Amino acid sequence: MRFSQTLIPTLREAPAEAEIVSHKLLVRGGFIMQVARGIYDYLPLGLRVIRKVEAIVRDELNRVGCAEVLLPIVIPGELWEESGRWGKYGKELLRLKDRNERDFCVGPTHEEVITDIVRKFVRSYRDLPKHLYQIHTKFRDEIRPRFGLMRGREFIMEDGYSFHASAEDLDQHYLVIRDAYQRIFKRCGLASRVVEADTGAIGGKSSHEVVVLADTGEDAIAGCDACDYAANVERAESCTPEYESANTSDLQKVHTPKLKSVEEVASFLKVPKHQMIKTLLYLRDGGVVVALVRGDAEVNEIKLKNAVDAEFVTLADANTVRLVTNAEVGFAGPVGLPKSVDGIGAITVVADDALKGVSGAASGANETDQHFLGLSEGRDFKVTQFADLRMVKAGDRCVRCQKGALKIVRGIEVGHIFKLGTRYSEPMKATFLDANSKEHVITMGTYGLGIGRTMAAAVEQNHDAKGMLWPLPIAPAHVHLILASDEKRQMGDEIYEVLQREGIEVLYDDRDARPGVKFNDADLIGIPYQMVVGKKTASTNHLEWTERAAGVKQEKSLTDCIATVKEALRH
Ligand code: ATP
Ligand code: MG
Repeated sequence: MRFSQTLIPTLREAPAEAEIVSHKLLVRGGFIMQVARGIYDYLPLGLRVIRKVEAIVRDELNRVGCAEVLLPIVIPGELWEESGRWGKYGKELLRLKDRNERDFCVGPTHEEVITDIVRKFVRSYRDLPKHLYQIHTKFRDEIRPRFGLMRGREFIMEDGYSFHASAEDLDQHYLVIRDAYQRIFKRCGLASRVVEADTGAIGGKSSHEVVVLADTGEDAIAGCDACDYAANVERAESCTPEYESANTSDLQKVHTPKLKSVEEVASFLKVPKHQMIKTLLYLRDGGVVVALVRGDAEVNEIKLKNAVDAEFVTLADANTVRLVTNAEVGFAGPVGLPKSVDGIGAITVVADDALKGVSGAASGANETDQHFLGLSEGRDFKVTQFADLRMVKAGDRCVRCQKGALKIVRGIEVGHIFKLGTRYSEPMKATFLDANSKEHVITMGTYGLGIGRTMAAAVEQNHDAKGMLWPLPIAPAHVHLILASDEKRQMGDEIYEVLQREGIEVLYDDRDARPGVKFNDADLIGIPYQMVVGKKTASTNHLEWTERAAGVKQEKSLTDCIATVKEALRH
């Protein structure tokens, strides 16, 4: 690849909206270009990296028996109606109509399409298991596309789907794919970790994310410092804290003018913060759910949504709070809440497990400027349901080993694996006959790996002040050959030919440009090995050789350079 012939529009400045290093460097290095928010062109160098990541993914998946397919990007709405997702998947789904006014969507994920194939072709237990995957473009109209390829609206994903005769078979296969995913990330030069995850809009029973640890990651991961428990904070659990001193005094109303926050009220009432009952109102489909947690805890909205099986939960506005509690915001509490409110719907009360049997607690009195002291659960108020609603915090006791403390770190979710069970096969009637000709619903798993996000994550983990440091297996080329003096053009051309003949991928900077510009671009682009042919290069026995990551210059012969690259490629 000659620099002069290909297109590598390097930039001095990163775009103003780029917040994280991978976004800045991929644009500055001329790998990608934004077309619209969250929609990118992959320029020649960017595409080369994409293709390499894809090749590693294919290699590892094919090796464990997965079969590649290619599914349509535009999907008929009827398939989504059948699975029940057409009405449920929110605004991330880009819907469109064809000329005959038929509904279609641009696929954000392909469970329906693949289940439709399998229900037509799988008849008997002998046809199972099957694992089909594709590597293709997805579209999700993300509310906040950002960070370049990390969270695009249009992005390339490897999505795989497995079909099994039994849950046990899925359990086994799930581990095989989990390991394959980890091998893929390792080969891409990424250190990854598997964590428990929420199942989100895709549905299903159990799910894990493969995350790459990075401070710029959008996900917060809770991990135990004593055992291997790790989970996305969206679903992480910790041991239920206990109340130290339960005081069983009578209920008492206290005037608390203008005191609203838990801190203000706790210090005024002289009760510890954890003895307060924080009461938050959420709008949900068909009503309001009142969430109660200890004053020192935060509500995990995903846990709340799952606990009450809601389609959504969002914090209620001041007007709803007034209508339900008869008080201004800041004075809500669990005592005397109505069962329903006209125009709003049913009011349900869900309390965090830590509040079970609490006594001597304090909360708002559902009356402006009033709080209660001496509250007992069961005596003064009843809840519809108890559940784990807490957002875990650093220092919480680990739910698995009951000994260690949780730490919170940031990570990038690069892969996601789900045990779906029969979430799609049942409504879509994907069944098989067992050895006795009895019909059963197929058990499914689904697996997704972001190709572009993996590429961006590789830059997050591998860069320095000058630019990117591509791991060799996914680098856009193996060697960056720099012609630093036009007098040596013939030697440069010859070396370029020799390297190519040896099967080494070369980006040959043959441009008519100043050496300084070329060196800066080479460091920015971050191809692992740099070779320089300059004024002082007497022969191919004395080439300047630099390993980009280590930055140390050496003199090497062409033969040695070739041997070094070939050796590195063998690993
Ligand atoms: P997130 O929580 O980050 O939105 P998700 O749970 O919606 O991810 P999945 O549906 O599990 O993602 O998709 C599988 C993989 O596809 C993710 O692990 C990620 O690598 C990639 N991916 C998902 N959304 C995007 C996006 N908007 N841009 C780039 N890659 C994405
Ligand atoms: Mg998402």
